Amino acid sequence: MATSDPKQKTVPRFTDKFSICPSCDLLLEEIQPLSTHTPVCPRCLRRLHRKRPDSARRTLVLSLTGLLLYLPANFAPLLTFNILGAATSSSLFQSTLSMFDQGEYLVGILVVLTGLICPFMTLSLLFGVSAGLFLGWQQRWMAVFLHWYHHLTEWAMTDIYLIAVFITIIKMNHAAAIGYHLGFFCFIGLVAATVAAQSSIDQSLFWDKLDRTTADERPRIPAETAARTGREAGLLLCQSCHKISPLPPRGPQENQKEEMSCPRCGELLHIRKENSIDRSWALIVTALLLTLPANLLPIMSVSSLGNVSKSTILDGIIHFFQEGSYGIGLIILTASVLVPLFKIIGMSLILISIHNKWTTWLRHKALMFRFIQFVGRWSMLDIFVIALLCSLVRFGSLSSVDTAPAALYFSAVVLCTMFAAISFDPRLLWDSAEEETAKDAAQDVARGVTPG
Ligand SMILES: [Zn+2]
Ligand SMILES: [Zn+2]
Repeated sequence: MATSDPKQKTVPRFTDKFSICPSCDLLLEEIQPLSTHTPVCPRCLRRLHRKRPDSARRTLVLSLTGLLLYLPANFAPLLTFNILGAATSSSLFQSTLSMFDQGEYLVGILVVLTGLICPFMTLSLLFGVSAGLFLGWQQRWMAVFLHWYHHLTEWAMTDIYLIAVFITIIKMNHAAAIGYHLGFFCFIGLVAATVAAQSSIDQSLFWDKLDRTTADERPRIPAETAARTGREAGLLLCQSCHKISPLPPRGPQENQKEEMSCPRCGELLHIRKENSIDRSWALIVTALLLTLPANLLPIMSVSSLGNVSKSTILDGIIHFFQEGSYGIGLIILTASVLVPLFKIIGMSLILISIHNKWTTWLRHKALMFRFIQFVGRWSMLDIFVIALLCSLVRFGSLSSVDTAPAALYFSAVVLCTMFAAISFDPRLLWDSAEEETAKDAAQDVARGVTPG
């Protein structure tokens, strides 16, 4: 057992003080988050870490409040509509299930998942993890919970559902006397608690507390590395928990693929998401094709005293403008028409730009992609409004609202565009830029060597 190693002096200095940007794979110095300052990636401007004070306790209290409000918000009566002495009442749960009564099973499943199941799951997962951390635990199931929370959070759409409730109220305000019940107020509380819980969680801090690897097990790179990206430095970043792992050794065959999962959260690790471009293209083209029936066919039919009038998404928007409800008209125009169009055009532009290796406006394209990810879920607004109207406007021959075929196509557009954004790997945008820079550098060297 040698006590001193003479080779030690010749070994270059290694460091484990670094991080990697999840959006562009840039190798960065370790981030030191401060409460006064949010670090951003210098290349793609992505926010890298936002410090949340007292995160575990706040998340625990807020998620518990949300869970306590969940049952009355969903099952207590929400609203009553009263037209000429006839009254109909519905709870949020009944509205969520109303698509099944209409025979629209696929849309129904989507509304149940996004309006009922995912919101409950996200709150429960948040509660479980924050309670565990608050008690000082470090259990394996907590990492599983946090991993699932990461994937489910954008599918929990109670915030959009609440806006849909307000739009329904404004839409029916002229025609019916509206009664507000316990469910309505509990639902507002539920949404406020959910949004606050989601914004109080400090995911980096939570993951650090759940990390079982010791400092010795952290991957190290030479302190004076020439590598610009994680990939060049032989490192893989988990897209779920942002843990850095060394690239697995190459198999004997060039195309041999080693499936490797994150040691902390279990997410499958890829240098880049597999077939990302092809999958995103397929989903975007499908969304584009479905946009036609979604906008040209009627989405809702209203029967009033025996007269049935069917309306498309645009008809509904025009109706709001004609009534003078410009704000609501604009919200629905944005959520139902502009956002899906923006997503399809924006994603196509990004994919074309990668195909053609365009290296200009990269930062703008990265920003546009993050915006597409952020607004994607808001297109569900119109579907929630229709679900609410179907359950609340049930006055028999006097007046009733039913769904029409476009609801299915429109939901499919929302799903396709959301999955297109999930399938896309934004690091691919920057790979072509890296290749071009390397090519330019090689050309410069060649020019310098070759006499002009
Ligand atoms: Zn970046
Ligand atoms: Zn992970």
